[in-house]
Amino acid sequence: MRIILIGPPGAGKGTQAARLSEKLGIPAISTGDTFRANVKNETELGKTAKRYMDAGEYVPDEVTNSMVQDRLNQDDTANGFMLDGYPRTEAQVHELDRMLKEASQELDHVVELTADTDEIVARLLARAQIEKRADDTEDVIRHRLDVYVEQTQPLTDIYQERGLLRKVDGLGEIDEVTDRVLKALGV
Ligand code: ADP
Repeated sequence: MRIILIGPPGAGKGTQAARLSEKLGIPAISTGDTFRANVKNETELGKTAKRYMDAGEYVPDEVTNSMVQDRLNQDDTANGFMLDGYPRTEAQVHELDRMLKEASQELDHVVELTADTDEIVARLLARAQIEKRADDTEDVIRHRLDVYVEQTQPLTDIYQERGLLRKVDGLGEIDEVTDRVLKALGV
């Protein structure tokens, strides 16, 4: 199964991706996690990404696209994958289309995890206390939400038109949300 998880920051994509990946036996690929690992290891990619991430901006498409292409070229994605946090812009959608076409693969589902703004801001502020992410301050959180609405939310229309969109309520117990997603996937 080839799945995209889409949704605002704080909707719980990372949490759900880890659980779903285990249940479905496919790797979860998180662009955010990959960027953070690169920042931590002080790689060139990390240095580039950090400037954007700390400001709550998207890392430029060329950088993100080539990172995803490298990851999808690895053997463990042959039987499927779950993308968490990619694509996030329309240009990334087209680039992913190209990568999949080249590999003679197709997407099966795009899961949109929804959550309202107040809940999201509360969750991210709580996470900030625990994880100390540089982009979890209230100003940057609000900016990330604006960027999401402007640049990423419109992607759901594209996938809706393709008949791939499955909307799932991200509010509630973690297990409950996982069950909802599995149901939406027909598993
Ligand atoms: P969240 O969804 O909670 O904002 P992520 O961990 O998914 O967090 O992403 C953190 C940051 O990494 C984003 O704000 C952005 O700077 C960068 N990033 C992640 N994925 C992408 C992407 N597909 N395109 C551009 N930037 C990205």
